This record gives sequence, structure tokens and C-alpha cells, in this order.
Amino acid sequence: MTTLQLGIDLGTTNSLIAQFIDGETKLIPNRLGHFLTPSVVSMTEDGTILVGLAARERLSTAPGHTAAAFKRFMGTDKRFHLGNQQFRAEELSALILKSLKEDAEAYLQEEVRDVVITVPAYFNAIQRQATQQAAQMAGLNVLRLLNEPTAAGLAYNLQEKPDNTRFLIYDLGGGTFDVSILDYFDGVVQVSASAGDNHLGGEDFLQALKHCFLQRCTELSKSDIEKLNLQKDIWQPLEIAKRQLSQESEVDISINFEGKEYKTRITREDFQQASSVLFSRLRQPLERALRDARLNPEQIDGIILVGGATRMPMISRSIVQLFKKIPQLGVNPDEAIARGAAIQAALIFRNQHLDEVILTDVMPFS
Ligand code: AMP
Repeated sequence: MTTLQLGIDLGTTNSLIAQFIDGETKLIPNRLGHFLTPSVVSMTEDGTILVGLAARERLSTAPGHTAAAFKRFMGTDKRFHLGNQQFRAEELSALILKSLKEDAEAYLQEEVRDVVITVPAYFNAIQRQATQQAAQMAGLNVLRLLNEPTAAGLAYNLQEKPDNTRFLIYDLGGGTFDVSILDYFDGVVQVSASAGDNHLGGEDFLQALKHCFLQRCTELSKSDIEKLNLQKDIWQPLEIAKRQLSQESEVDISINFEGKEYKTRITREDFQQASSVLFSRLRQPLERALRDARLNPEQIDGIILVGGATRMPMISRSIVQLFKKIPQLGVNPDEAIARGAAIQAALIFRNQHLDEVILTDVMPFS
């Protein structure tokens, strides 16, 4: 029996587990058959712990019993209250990891123990230690903690590129934005710059769309808008519309409020205009990372998109404008990190399908 070569992307919004097998990476589905497991934990009234989609659905119905986006607090003393019990971020992360482990075991029919787990490049020693502890609590052995941008680079075979290749990793998730510059030279991948905004992501674009929609429903009074702003169930039609706008040039959004239907057509241009402030915020970490690495946009060899929110066409368009290059395609943006982590596991086990590279992932400012 060969050793399982597994990588885990323990994400702020979603987590995934991937396997390197027969010379390629494959994602392992969870018990619902989904590749993405929402990084959400909830406790029911009778004390049952729910993880993933079932927990995410309780974010609006049982917010006092549900925790999300706890990755931001790894290694801190913050306590999350789930009913009358308290959890630290690493304990909640351990529950996510345990759920991924158990689902993968059920799928693979084998025990899962050794894994590569990814962490943001900017995680300090305490946050990395907290991730290690979460893995231990989940019954996992961490082969290596790998920087997320390095994992994304591996998913695009950075380890097979000529020396001095430079990749920029543009990672826009649900609630965070990270830009990293990777240098590859002689088997060493170095994160030469890392910048970001911990409170900027797809959720902010959703808010912008909501704002745009509410403004267009001219029949709504100011107090209706205030009420609607607090109403959690308008989230879903807006999320669907936001994703549709990544495929189509316009969408009809309709919501029911106090027995009446409000319907409005929103075009991509409307959405882009409503998001213009967010675009200038996205620009700042990009400029900072380039400045810190002392590089011009032309000196970047490839741009890799990571995170579901990079599916918005306006993101690629803004990148083409700045770098005069089309971002690399081929790996789903929300899967690249998990796939890269599995490649790292395969490199550790010296998989015959991969060139022998001793990959060292250097993080000069951790
Ligand atoms: P992640 O943390 O990588 O799972 O990213 C989740 C974010 O990506 C959420 O804010 C989603 O709304 C957003 N997202 C996922 N798919 C799309 C899409 N097709 N178009 C726009 N945003 C998307």
C-alpha cells in the first residue's frame, strides 16, 4: 500500500482536502459530495456539534450558537461562544480538520494521518503553532505547514520553471485579500513580499451589490431600506446574482419584502461602478507588494488567481490593465491551494511522477 499524499487548505471561508495520486491532484469530496467544506462550526440546542454546510446554514438562524471566520483569531485568547460553551479559534479549526479527516477516511477507506496544511504567508510563529495544535487535536500529523502562496505556485508547477521565475499570487477570498510575490531559484521558493487587507473580500462586493440594488428600488422608503439591511434572508438572492454577474452581463434581482415583490435589473457596469471604492482598496496591497519586492509589474512572469472572488471578470480585467498580462488559467481559483499542498506532500514522499526538487519555502519576515 502506498502512503497517502494529502494536502489541506484550512481556509477562512472554506476548507478543502486534496490527494496526489497517479501523477495528478484530485480533490476529495466531503460526505455531502462537495469539495468545499465551509469553515463554520455550530452547536445545536442538545449539544451536537455541526461542521460545514449544516453549520453555515445556522449562521442566520442560530448566530449565538455558530462561529465563522475564526481563522483570523488563530493563536489569540479570543473565545467564541457556541451556546453556553466557549471555544478558541484553534479548537474550532480542529473541528474543521477532524471533519475533513473523517470524510476523507470514509471516501478513501483508509486512515488519514500525515498531511501538509497551508497557512497564510504572514502567519507568525504563534499562529503557526496554533495551526499545529489544531491538527494535533484532530488526530493529524503535520508533515509541513506550507505558505498558501507557495501552494498556489506549486499548483501551477512553479517548481518546474526556470530559475528566477517570479509569480504574483492574487488571493481574494470571502473576507480577506492577500498579495504575495514568489521567487523561484534552485529549488527554493521564497515569498519575497506579502501584503494584504484582512477585511476585504467577496463579502464586501456582496454589500456593494446590495447597496446598488436597494438604491434602485425607488419605491422603498428610507425606513424600509433600513429594515431590509438587517434582514438576513436577502443574502441568498444577492449572492446568486453576484455569481451570475461573473457569467452574464446583466441579472434580474427580486426580493420579497412585507408581501410585495421588488425587482430590478443590474448590469455588470452598475455592479462595477458600485464597487469602485473596493477597486481602489484592492490596488493598494498590490502596489505595496511590488514596492517591497522592488519590482515593476513587467518583471512579474505570471499572475495566479486564488479565491472564489477572483471569478469576477472585473478582477482579471484590472490585472491585465496593470500587468499587461492575462492571469494564468487552468486550476480553479478556490482549489489551487489544496492542490498545491497535495503536491508538496508528494514532493516530501519523493513521488516518482515529480522531478526531484527539494522545495524550501522561505518566509523572510515570519
Ligand atoms: P473562498 O474564500 O476562496 O472560498 O471565496 C469565497 C468568496 O468567493 C465568496 O465571497 C463568494 O461569494 C465568492 N465567489 C465564489 N464564486 C464566485 C463567482 N462565480 N463570482 C463572484 N464571486 C464568487
